[in-house]
Amino acid sequence: MIGDLARPVLKSMTTMDSLSPDLMRSSVAELEQALFNHEQWCEGLYSTLICRLPPDQRDMEVDAHRRCRFGQWYYGTGSIKLSSHRGFEEIAIEHQRMHQYAATLLNASTHRVPISVQDYERFDSALKRMRLEIATLKHDIEDALYNLDPLTGAASRIGMLTKLREEQELVKRKVHSCCLAMMDLDDFKNVNDTHGHAIGDRVLVGFARYVMAHLRPYDKFFRYGGEEFLLCATGTDLVTGTGVVNRLREEVSSIAHEGSSTKTVHVTVSVGITLLDPDVSVEESIDRADKALYLAKSRGRNQTVVWDASML
Ligand code: GH3
Ligand code: MG
Ligand code: MG
Repeated sequence: MIGDLARPVLKSMTTMDSLSPDLMRSSVAELEQALFNHEQWCEGLYSTLICRLPPDQRDMEVDAHRRCRFGQWYYGTGSIKLSSHRGFEEIAIEHQRMHQYAATLLNASTHRVPISVQDYERFDSALKRMRLEIATLKHDIEDALYNLDPLTGAASRIGMLTKLREEQELVKRKVHSCCLAMMDLDDFKNVNDTHGHAIGDRVLVGFARYVMAHLRPYDKFFRYGGEEFLLCATGTDLVTGTGVVNRLREEVSSIAHEGSSTKTVHVTVSVGITLLDPDVSVEESIDRADKALYLAKSRGRNQTVVWDASML
């Protein structure tokens, strides 16, 4: 059983990559619901002001931003998974400000004092900024979701070259070196043939999640094709990178995946590794990793081969 390995992981990261596709989808749904609740609150506020109705006392309190339904979601446990993301805190700032200004408007209305244009505009600006912050966060999640492989949660090939070119720019500027490792599961067709495609899918997911759980936050892991993945190990020279993938390779081989009936499945992985070369195209570096992978396969699989110029 892969047990713990199948859990969503990478809690310490601060980008959208830290959420599994399922968590991202539920986060989008929750944000939409929270936004809907907030819009309803807003409608209530407008009718209170326009019709001079008695205000909801909760809106007059200093912690009104915590009492509305949006605030209950924001400060409750439901939003925790988003709390480390860029833009999350900014929502709170604008939301709280907006409530303070709303209380000023309600106060004026209650005392039958005309609402000044300045007070109304301060409220309206905070409201618009809050909506913008929420829309930006939602857009970030949807954007990240679009770039994920739906089965494994690894990054998809969409945007892969762009990200690798950004890495290459850093290598060119000598900010750091970077390794590319092409990883291909061994005899995977055999897993499908023996246990069925559904089990094959689960093995693939178990493998990908294990690797992702054991990478550093700034490493990138793409599903390159069927059972083939490309790891971009940032800030790593060839010796360190080879050490990292070899450790992963050994650990992966010891995972007992759940198979059909009572059988367990073990898979191994072959790896071709190379430096992301600043002087050739990114595609050429990928091709080098692929050539080294080919050699790892022909040498018997479950091993790592480092690319060298003789493989041209
Ligand atoms: P090798 O060691 O040479 O890589 O052998 P292999 O069997 O892994 O390679 P081959 O290219 O012959 O077969 C790849 C298999 O991976 C066949 C294909 O059905 C399977 N595969 C690719 N994508 C998926 C997937 O998303 N789910 C499942 N279950 N199988 C997949
Ligand atoms: Mg394979
Ligand atoms: Mg393959």
